[in-house]
Order: sequence, then structure tokens, then C-alpha cells
Amino acid sequence: MDSPETAAVRERLLADEQQTVEQIDALDERARELQSPDEVAFSSDASRADDAPLAVEREKELALRRTLQQRLRDVRSALGKLEQGTYGRCEACGQPISPQRLRAQPHAALCINCQAKMERAR
Ligand SMILES: [Zn+2]
Repeated sequence: MDSPETAAVRERLLADEQQTVEQIDALDERARELQSPDEVAFSSDASRADDAPLAVEREKELALRRTLQQRLRDVRSALGKLEQGTYGRCEACGQPISPQRLRAQPHAALCINCQAKMERAR
């Protein structure tokens, strides 16, 4: 039987998962539009006539998509850990992740120290 906290975290993670999937779907939808120039030519949007801004935009969307997919993996992995009872532990050092951090980022896989270390290593 889940504790109320576990149930609340799961609910938040599931909402996060759904939202992230929807954002990725929306990006894919847009990517398809951008990939069919014939259809775009019929659109009355004059700003699309120039290719350069489009490429920059496309680049930004790809970066965003990668971020969203990483987030989706983290959210799903957090849901899995919730089932296994290992939720809230840092994947790198095994120490508990602080409750404040988990409140801000329920899908966090690393404690604040390991996260900082990883970001410095990049
Ligand atoms: Zn850690």
C-alpha cells in the first residue's frame, strides 16, 4: 500500500510524463510541417519564405526535443524506482536526494552534489 507521499509523487510524475509526451508530439507535428515545403508554400505566412531563420528554428527545436526526451526518460525511470522502492536515492552515490530538490524536480536522478559534479564534467 502506497504512502500518501508516494501516491502524490506518482501522480506528479504521471502528469509530467503526459505533458512531456504532448510537448514532443507537438514538436514532431511542427517538424513534419517544416519538412513539407510544398504545403508551407501554400501558407500565407510570409516569414517562412526565407530558409535561414527556419534552419535556426529547426536547430532549436531539435535541442528542445533532446531535452524533452531526456526528461521523459528521467520521469519514467523515477516511476520505475517508485515501484521498486528505490525512489529518492541518488543514482551515483546512493545518498538520499533532499526533499526540497525532489519537490522542485520529482524526476531528479542525482543528488545536488552529484548533479553539480556531472555538470562541471561536461
Ligand atoms: Zn549523489
